[in-house]
Amino acid sequence: MSKKALLMEEVNEMNESNEMVEDNLDANEGLIVEKKTPMLSDLPGVGPATMEKLAAAGYTDLISVAVASIGKITDATGMTDVAARKLVQTARASVDMGFASGDELLKRRERVLKIKIPSEEINKLLDGGFETGCIVEVFGQYGSSKTQIAHQLAVSVQKQFPGSEAVYIDTENTFRPERIKQMSEGLGMDSTEVLRNIKVARAYNSDHQMLLAEMVEDLIKKGTNVRLVVVDSLTALFRVEYVGRGTLADRQQKLNRHMRTLSKLADMHNVSILVTNQVMSKPDQFFGDPTEAIGGHIVGHNSTFRIYVRKGKKGTRVAKLIDAPNLPDNEVTFQITEQGVRDV
Ligand code: ADP
Ligand code: MG
Repeated sequence: MSKKALLMEEVNEMNESNEMVEDNLDANEGLIVEKKTPMLSDLPGVGPATMEKLAAAGYTDLISVAVASIGKITDATGMTDVAARKLVQTARASVDMGFASGDELLKRRERVLKIKIPSEEINKLLDGGFETGCIVEVFGQYGSSKTQIAHQLAVSVQKQFPGSEAVYIDTENTFRPERIKQMSEGLGMDSTEVLRNIKVARAYNSDHQMLLAEMVEDLIKKGTNVRLVVVDSLTALFRVEYVGRGTLADRQQKLNRHMRTLSKLADMHNVSILVTNQVMSKPDQFFGDPTEAIGGHIVGHNSTFRIYVRKGKKGTRVAKLIDAPNLPDNEVTFQITEQGVRDV
């Protein structure tokens, strides 16, 4: 068994905190953490107690501290002004808060690819398809077809970009190779080949899930031509592991870090990221939106596109685009057939 496989086993068995997982990795020649982005906990003077106070006040990552006022930090932590100033300055120095020129941004936009699925309606909704370089969040209730869309994208990416590969991080044990086979045949593709180009990993707990996302970078460095990363479901494990209000700040902080890993992956390697998220029903709520995505605004703000899916009339499904940066909010219908996701 390779060192990494052994390490993975260890991580699977571990139920301790994420910090301990990281210590463990450090001990293994920095196998995975060598290119770690700076974290809040890396700042001088930020121990677990301060971390907790910061998190409770909503400061869960470096950038939030970097843009905070000295007064807010002293209020949150009880630090002296001098210590708070030092903290904010160090945070500023360790994150890139500079400007990029418009032409640089345009150049970055030009490399964006759009993955089309066999539903023109959904492609149109997304102005051509699922973009690379960003995170798309598909959220909806159980059975609304989130997993079907994820499977379809893992096949369609290979149809459109021959030789490309997909990574599928499965947290609910709902990845089905048989379904991939049906969808491949539905597009006239060799299903054995399609299946070979999907790297599936079952995540056993949220630490493992986060680690798997970090490992995608290694896959890419070793030459895997990853164009799509699916995390299905993004929030299910976090939801069961962090119950009760007391642990909410903790959960949000980790989820935020996980999203950062994915976002960096999208940006650095022009990969498309699809995450699914189940909505909680809030039957006791009479005003406003009766459903709310788990993970709340952290997940929402880190996703570039958010698609809300629900069951429609006569077995159809409805997809609605929410808060897209440069597209109108819109709604289309589609259906799930034996061959995959199709227009009605
Ligand atoms: P979610 O991930 O949102 O909980 P799924 O993506 O698992 O939901 O959607 C499940 C639905 O997909 C099923 O209720 C069924 O309607 C549809 N579905 C799954 N497999 C097939 C198939 N082979 N043919 C037709 N419809 C299917
Ligand atoms: Mg599912």
